[in-house]
Amino acid sequence: MNRTASLPIVAALALLLPLAGHAADTAPQADRTLGRELLGELIAIDTTAEHGSTTVAAKKLARRFLDAGFAPADVQVVGDDPRRRNLVVRLRGHGGREPILLLAHLDVVEARRGDWHVDPFALTERDGYFYGRGTMDIKGAGVGLVETLLRLHREHFVPKGDYILALTAGEEDGVANGVQWLLAHRPELIRSAYSINVDGGGPEIRGGKPAVLSVETAEKVYLSYTLTVHNPGGHSSLPTPDNAIYRLAKGLERLSALQFPLRSNAATRGYYATLAKDYTGAMAADMRAVARAPSDPAALARLAASSAYNNAQLRTTCVPTLLAGGHAENALPQMARATVNCRLLPDEDPDRVDAALRQAVADPGVEIARVAPPQPSPPSPVDEALFARVAKVARGLWGPIPVSPYMSAGASDSVFLRAAGMPSYVFNGIAYDVDDDRSHGQDERILVDAYYRSLEFDYRLLKEL
Ligand SMILES: [Zn+2]
Repeated sequence: MNRTASLPIVAALALLLPLAGHAADTAPQADRTLGRELLGELIAIDTTAEHGSTTVAAKKLARRFLDAGFAPADVQVVGDDPRRRNLVVRLRGHGGREPILLLAHLDVVEARRGDWHVDPFALTERDGYFYGRGTMDIKGAGVGLVETLLRLHREHFVPKGDYILALTAGEEDGVANGVQWLLAHRPELIRSAYSINVDGGGPEIRGGKPAVLSVETAEKVYLSYTLTVHNPGGHSSLPTPDNAIYRLAKGLERLSALQFPLRSNAATRGYYATLAKDYTGAMAADMRAVARAPSDPAALARLAASSAYNNAQLRTTCVPTLLAGGHAENALPQMARATVNCRLLPDEDPDRVDAALRQAVADPGVEIARVAPPQPSPPSPVDEALFARVAKVARGLWGPIPVSPYMSAGASDSVFLRAAGMPSYVFNGIAYDVDDDRSHGQDERILVDAYYRSLEFDYRLLKEL
């Protein structure tokens, strides 16, 4: 789940759109019933890394497709780890366009029964919400795609090109990650023009109203460093001028002045263009100036200075997060080490970040090393045609809400697809209150009405693409 970059508080919109709509705004009764049944079935299967199995879920859902008449060759349960298999289903199209990959992960974060007010591994409907581990992250949206493919198949709808649904393992803990496995071992199963990953984004409810539909098109790249100083040490009663802790501290002090250059990309320009409509005065003008390419440097500087969030949207950042050193209270430190966590703009060259750190620290006695290699994540283009189609479908369900790209500071399975050259768009159709995001937390829930409406959103979108 990747919603770290949802829009900050915006002024109330003039559009007052009730969530509960008339029949045309939601899926037909038979599909709501099936959607609820599938959701209950999937929530009841423990898919945690700790004691669950995505294989059980993959096989159970595969049975649904086979019973509906999908060809066995188009329904594959694959993977090396017997407890962490993946389901890949193909709905065949006319061949008029390249396939489109639809992606959700099957695994969920651990949930302890004692921490919850309901059983996390049973679907509970209460007060207009569906409760259960994974309702929000991301079994709700994943099973919505299952229901939609079954509905399209039942109606003998043949899309312009294939839809490939991949329900995968290992997103939450990275072990036996299904997307990485498919790319490495069965790339032909998922080869597509682009992918829609439902693990984030979507219609955001603010003040009770759907305000914007966010589509993540880019992610910052995670890269940590250690800064280490070694020293012969000695007895603390005999201090020497060259002290490992002082030396590291001075290097960190110089590092604190490092600021990476400000710049926008297609995702952040689209994001600020949408956000500007909710602001007035100088702030709105600066957002509009940043939304134009090339962005105005003075507006970039003012916007970045206005909040930590805006700063992170507009530049690569590095910050110390851990500190360690010394081995005894009465000994001179033989080692002092800091960890510095960087979040790179998606087009940033990691070698340039290495060089910038060395230059800022300006001391060859401070050893600078990467903790792990970065996973590159080239941004996906803001595909105007796709966005227009999403907006058209969204209009029919939530009124004329903007569809806005955004860049996330977090990471999803889309990084692997983008790194492999497949554009990826992260969004789903389950409207959620931005102040009630319980993914990974206790009493995880989604709105019942929003779930049913998402089934209709998926259905109309897949007929549109
Ligand atoms: Zn997720």
